[in-house]
Amino acid sequence: MAVSTPAPLDSSKLETQFTQTERPLPDHNSPEQWSQSYQTDHMLTVSWDVTNGWETPKIGPYSNLSLPPTASIFHYATTCFEGMKVYRGYDGKARLFRPHLNAARMLRSAQRVCLPSFDPAELEVLLIKFAEVEAKKWVPESRPGTFFYLRPMMLGTQSTIGLQPAKEALLCIISVVFPNIDDTPVTKGPIDGSGETSKAFSPLKATTGTKEENSPGLKLFASASSHVRAWPGGSGAAKIGANYGPTLVPQQEARNAGFDQVLWLYGGSGFENNPLVTEAGGSNFFMVWKTPEGKTQLITATLELGIILPGITRQSILELSKDEFKDELEVVESDFGIEDIVLAHKENRLVEAFVAGTAYFVTPVKQITYQGNDLRVPLSEGTSGKYTKAIREYLMAVQYGQRESKWGVVLNEL
Ligand SMILES: *Cc1c(COP(=O)(O)O)cnc(C)c1O
Repeated sequence: MAVSTPAPLDSSKLETQFTQTERPLPDHNSPEQWSQSYQTDHMLTVSWDVTNGWETPKIGPYSNLSLPPTASIFHYATTCFEGMKVYRGYDGKARLFRPHLNAARMLRSAQRVCLPSFDPAELEVLLIKFAEVEAKKWVPESRPGTFFYLRPMMLGTQSTIGLQPAKEALLCIISVVFPNIDDTPVTKGPIDGSGETSKAFSPLKATTGTKEENSPGLKLFASASSHVRAWPGGSGAAKIGANYGPTLVPQQEARNAGFDQVLWLYGGSGFENNPLVTEAGGSNFFMVWKTPEGKTQLITATLELGIILPGITRQSILELSKDEFKDELEVVESDFGIEDIVLAHKENRLVEAFVAGTAYFVTPVKQITYQGNDLRVPLSEGTSGKYTKAIREYLMAVQYGQRESKWGVVLNEL
């Protein structure tokens, strides 16, 4: 009997069937955009099983999935995902931002929950092809400077109540319309990696509340004891569903107390006296401060302990800052603790802080609250710090085609 090898993921086999029932494109900054659940017309699916490997990738009309209630995903969170955007440039071209990095991270996340392996270069092609089907309509040339959100995901679909690696899985790429978080929301919602919406919010242009609450910038709540996202040996570095549901309780607590996001600390073994500052909500955290020696430093947590998500925005900011600000800033990935921020605040050494990720983009932080103390972070340019602003502008210029860069992958739209 011939033993067949399971087929690899193969983007060259992609089949496309266009929808017969197109959905209307919502207005810019409309409630549909803010709902973050209004899908574009199509989805891409590829099924896998342990014997046959990857099936033919297919783009077809967006539709519901049909799965048995015993499917592994529903019980054991055998799922991982990615978050990316398709940007419409001011030059009329549509782009993805460094998609090969998302494809590579998707593979690492899949492996963390024993989902099947694939060549990330094949996933990258599928991401590009899917974006090429949707771009013309969903980021029309008449709306330069806008984007929609791509959500690649993989699920264990095998029927199994026994806990075991899935023998069947599904890779999907879906996309939803997304508001520009710099715009004033017409209805609701902060944006973060998990797509949660709860209260009127715009990080750069707040719309409700008192004058003080109206000032731009995020307020972060930090607690080392009740708010722990990840720990050494855990799964914090993977973009897997299991990491996100449990963050909702601390996030709701912080929101109910008037904060925008949780600043995740790690105060475990060795860090009890000065809990590590890791990341904020679904974004990486950056601080600009003066060191006690008087150097100006851009600092973010290292990836070494595996407790933060290695953001592509984070990596890009580190790379561009080493170049753009080489005469002004020392750029470091290093462990630093909340007590270091407390001390820097006391000694007037805080320069600025921001969070960074695809969903939240680069958003200034104006306050960190720790053990009942509100630490104010300066916003030197009014709505953000100087470096925060320069970094935002640099990345936007790449994404919207105003700066020539290998990071922007131009789509050949259908
Ligand atoms: C996705 C994500 C980020 C940001 O990653 P990007 O690749 O920059 O979008 C940061 N932290 C967490 C927890 C995330 O899920």
